[in-house]
Amino acid sequence: MAIPFFKELKIGGYLIKQKMLGRKRYPLVLMLEPLFRCNLACAGCGKIDYPDAILNRRMTAQECWDAAEECGAPMVAIPGGEPLIHKEIGEIVRGLVARKKFVSLCTNAMLLEKKLDLFEPSPYLFFSVHLDGLKEHHDESVCQDGVFDRAVSAIKAAKARGFTVNVNATIFDNYPAEEIAKFLDFTTELGVGVSMSPGYAYERAPDQEHFLNRTKTKKLFRDVFALGKGKKWNFMHSGLFLDFLAGNQEYHCTPWGMPARNIFGWQKPCYLLGEGYTKTFKELMETTDWDSYGTGKYEKCANCMAHCGYEPTAATAALNNPLKTMWVALRGVRTTGPMAPEIDLTKQRPAQYIFAQQVEKTLTEIRKDEAAAAAAKQAAKEQKASTAA
Ligand code: SF4
Ligand code: SF4
Repeated sequence: MAIPFFKELKIGGYLIKQKMLGRKRYPLVLMLEPLFRCNLACAGCGKIDYPDAILNRRMTAQECWDAAEECGAPMVAIPGGEPLIHKEIGEIVRGLVARKKFVSLCTNAMLLEKKLDLFEPSPYLFFSVHLDGLKEHHDESVCQDGVFDRAVSAIKAAKARGFTVNVNATIFDNYPAEEIAKFLDFTTELGVGVSMSPGYAYERAPDQEHFLNRTKTKKLFRDVFALGKGKKWNFMHSGLFLDFLAGNQEYHCTPWGMPARNIFGWQKPCYLLGEGYTKTFKELMETTDWDSYGTGKYEKCANCMAHCGYEPTAATAALNNPLKTMWVALRGVRTTGPMAPEIDLTKQRPAQYIFAQQVEKTLTEIRKDEAAAAAAKQAAKEQKASTAA
């Protein structure tokens, strides 16, 4: 997801307003997942491992708009699953744009070219195309040949039609810095902005071997940024987040900065980690034990440096330290010298596993809904038959 926090005056204004109002916790981006179904099955994906009954569920357009209003964040990112599979996606995006939300529609681009007619170019709409690297690397990452060519063709078509397009890359282990640098050069040639995030170690991802730990992440990003000196890579991140990736900032995550709403409800505590669900956004904010999550506090957070947890931290840091922000903007990210101290992991609480329980609970609800719908249909049929008699 490309999330150009500092490029949009409106989002900057929102941040200042929250600070002036003295709010301790506030959302920046709503992560809206209207469905989990996808037309790819990437090895590092932690989002699609559900039974069909759950993959077939959709949030309605009205539920999506209500979630955006309830949350109040100035930006809505729509990942998934693959949002372009959703039959009402054009309507959902139109409704969000009409509400003056910045919309980042995250897609693997398999259907993008075909579905461009559903959308209209707008300063409020960005396509954020999943591209993990150059052809060979990307096709391997998404476990299907030909996806890179199709995505690049769709990016060109969307740009030609006047849409803003960014790409988002998830970075895993064994990806040499030189290759990442070549990929970033390619995004510059393509004329798109880019966001990059180390892959979060989803417990349900099929490939568990290639997630980066924090030490490797920092070293890798230092190497990448060193190769980028003097180049004009167009990152959709704040300078302080990039500085954090390079190990120069000791940040704790801000899980409520990008809250997630999906078919289960509002997800506790963040987009990456499903540890329970609430019915309302207010309930999410008020009942989540925020202090029990984050690196050093919870085992599942040990290696997380993902942008959805730490970009909001960097945004707050930028607001509180404009001089430091300017320093990084002028000098670039430091790629040598000592790193900021790493967070102590010795006191983190052990992981809890609720995935199976959540799936069972939702399947029971689905069965109940289906039984009620079948009973209503039968009753209507009987009523019709008795009226006819
Ligand atoms: S395209 Fe995205 S949602 Fe689909 S399988 Fe790949 S990572 Fe998961
Ligand atoms: S460290 Fe923060 S953002 Fe990352 S998984 Fe844990 S709670 Fe979520």
